[in-house]
Amino acid sequence: MRNDGNLAAYAEWAVRGGQSRALLFVGLGTGIGGGFIDDGHLLRGVDDKAVEIGHVIIAPGGRLCACRREGCVEAYASGPSIARIAAELALARSGSLADRILAAGGSTTALEVYAAFAEGDELAREVHGIAADALARGIASALALLAPDTVVFGGGVMAGAGALIADVAALVPGHVYDGGYAGCRFEDALLGPDAGLLGAAIYGASRVLARGDLLKLAGEALAAYA
Ligand SMILES: [Zn+2]
Repeated sequence: MRNDGNLAAYAEWAVRGGQSRALLFVGLGTGIGGGFIDDGHLLRGVDDKAVEIGHVIIAPGGRLCACRREGCVEAYASGPSIARIAAELALARSGSLADRILAAGGSTTALEVYAAFAEGDELAREVHGIAADALARGIASALALLAPDTVVFGGGVMAGAGALIADVAALVPGHVYDGGYAGCRFEDALLGPDAGLLGAAIYGASRVLARGDLLKLAGEALAAYA
C-alpha cells in the first residue's frame, strides 16, 4: 500500500469510530490526492491508484496540470496552483496581496493567499472562489461515482483555508445530478499531516484484527493522538 491519500482516508474513517458508512478523503497539498472507504473497506484499485480525485477533469481545455493534461481539479486547487493563479491575476489587480506578489517578483504561496483571504483581500477572494469551484465540481463527480456520506478535507493547504470547506459544501449541490445528493457531511480532517502514516499502521492492523477490535484500538489510539 503506497497511496498516502488512501491511507489517510482509512485513518480518518477509523478515528470516527465507524460513524461514517462511506467516507471520501480529499487531501489538498502540493497535489490533490484522495481515498474512499466503503463500510470499512478501502477502495484500492490497480496499484493502489484509486480515487485520484485531483485528476478528474472539470474544465476541458483548461489549465495545464502537473500530469500534463488540461483542466484537472489539481490545476486549480492544489497549493502550487492556488499560488500560480494568484501570481497571474496579480498582474492585472491592485490591493495588498497583489502588491506583495509583485514586490516579490511574482511569487507567492497558498498560505499567503489564505492569510490575505482572512483579511478580506479581493484578489485572494477571487483565487479562493476559483479553487472552491474546481473542488466542488470534482467532488460532485466523486459523489456520482462513490456516494459518500462524509467528505473529509485534509492536507497542507487546509492549514490556512478554513473557509474552503463551507464554500465547497455550499457549491457542491449545484453540480450534483438530481437525486445524487443526500445530505453528505463536509468535515475538516481530525488528524494532522501524519494521517497517512497512521493509516498505514491501522490498515496493517486491520489485516489481523476483527473489525470491532480494530475500531476500538484505532479509536483509542487516534483519540489520544488527535
Ligand atoms: Zn491532472
